[in-house]
Amino acid sequence: MSDVAQCLQSVRERIAAAARRCGRSPDSARLIAVSKRKPATDIREAYAAGQRDFGENYAQELVDKATQLQDLEGIRWHMIGHLQRNKVRQILPVVHAIHTVDSVRLATELGRRAEARGGPPVEVLVEVNVSGEASKSGCEPSQLAPLLEALRGYSCLSVHGLMTVPPASEDPEHALPYFERLRSLRDAQAGSATLPDLSMGMTSDLEQAVAAGATWVRVGTAIFGARPARIES
Ligand SMILES: *Cc1c(COP(=O)(O)O)cnc(C)c1O
Repeated sequence: MSDVAQCLQSVRERIAAAARRCGRSPDSARLIAVSKRKPATDIREAYAAGQRDFGENYAQELVDKATQLQDLEGIRWHMIGHLQRNKVRQILPVVHAIHTVDSVRLATELGRRAEARGGPPVEVLVEVNVSGEASKSGCEPSQLAPLLEALRGYSCLSVHGLMTVPPASEDPEHALPYFERLRSLRDAQAGSATLPDLSMGMTSDLEQAVAAGATWVRVGTAIFGARPARIES
């Protein structure tokens, strides 16, 4: 078994164990393999090991990899990084879900472009800045209702839920209250019938996220190893 396949298996086991511990079905939290700054060969290994959902942070990198890997049938690309409006047109043809809608302006651009394209609806999630840190992207909790309403105005967008990134911390337990906050915001908005998905949890804190109700966890390092630093160009 390849390294990537082995790591993937242990991440799956972590997720299933965390789900069982809180009485959830082991497959109720699904895995997005975060492949940012990792080569296409790594993604092929994960795909060969059964992984189908992959996450990228940069629009250009997502489009490049989707193009290089278009022979992989059924692969699904998730945009999990901040999305600029001028990149919407570029990623729409290849993206399966966008986890980072954080403004009405972005929602409007997405809705207009997706409507013009036609085809199956794009899954969208609203990124919420639950910690209020100035450096974080995501909408403020008070902006959530109008943003959801704007998204629901477009039949080509399918609103699936909420996403968050908690403040960085050495202690994964520190993430738990932020995950719980995201869940209660969802419950206050509409509940799980209309917003089923909570995208939260990464390599260090996926157990806490699953305990708080994550349906998507986004894991990079534990699958593909440490990433090279981002080269600014
Ligand atoms: C990089 C990234 C991840 C994965 O982080 P790891 O700690 O490597 O698992 C998850 N979510 C987002 C938004 C990211 O940018």
